[in-house]
Amino acid sequence: MGIGNPLKSVVLRGLRSTGALWAATRYLRRNQLVILCYHGVSLRDEHLWEGGLYMPAELFRQRMAFLHDWGANVLPLSEALVRVKNKTLPPKSVVITFDDGFHDFSKHAMPAMAKYNFPSTLYLTTWYMKYQLPVFSLMVKYLMWKSGWAEYATSAAREQAVARYVQQVDSEYLTAEQCDKVARCLAETIGLDYDSILADRLFQLMTPEETADASRAGVDIQLHTHRHRTPHDRNLFLRELRDNALEVREITGRDPKHFCYPSGVTAPEFLPWLREFGIESATTCEHGLVSRHADPLLLPRYLDGCAVTELDFESWLSGVR
Ligand SMILES: [Zn+2]
Repeated sequence: MGIGNPLKSVVLRGLRSTGALWAATRYLRRNQLVILCYHGVSLRDEHLWEGGLYMPAELFRQRMAFLHDWGANVLPLSEALVRVKNKTLPPKSVVITFDDGFHDFSKHAMPAMAKYNFPSTLYLTTWYMKYQLPVFSLMVKYLMWKSGWAEYATSAAREQAVARYVQQVDSEYLTAEQCDKVARCLAETIGLDYDSILADRLFQLMTPEETADASRAGVDIQLHTHRHRTPHDRNLFLRELRDNALEVREITGRDPKHFCYPSGVTAPEFLPWLREFGIESATTCEHGLVSRHADPLLLPRYLDGCAVTELDFESWLSGVR
């Protein structure tokens, strides 16, 4: 049984004040890697809506400064994984990963990481990249939250309502453009200026040009499926990888070999399919450190977000958690 959160906090604060967190890093984290996972850095107020997935730009900048001041060795993913295996991982090793590839990655995350020359891996989903329209399900959920309407007050209610929307657009075979008209209509109904939301590029992926720029700037672009889904049918699953890899190769000129499960959904049958495709590593949303005994196709990460305190963050980095 785990100890309660308040108690954990007291223990961690005590450890930090004695310098023990520092010392713990050397022992607890020997040849173990921390992979950090990020989704979005707010363009507006997205962190107030989904604090688990979005953080304000200032908080992300603080995290990068913390990594720098703490003396983290931020490594490229593939190098870190090789060094875990052959036991040459430097102390305080960290890998930074981002999921999806939204516009806010190039606008906020890249400059914050570039300040310290931190390498990063971006797991890119590619279908929406071509359309340059907001991801429909995210936009609808966000608009429901913005409406302030009682029927959309909880996250569960919004989830249910958006599922109905998605089912309807699927059953009517609406195109991406028609879906966007539905989103616009919803925005106008609740009195929001949809054009200004579009102008800020909320829930829009980077363009192929922006992604190519990111790749040229040293961002390691890897796989996250083409349509952000993992079908339980082998052929459809492999098609998601193939379509995704084709786009990534076209943009970066390199063959992607690393994968991240969309929405963190894993299943035992995915592993042989990933191996068959030649995938070398796959990351999940499970919390934990990566040791040389970890299954390379089920690598844990730490999901950073608004609710994560600096003390939590430091305890992940130290291995105390
Ligand atoms: Zn994702």
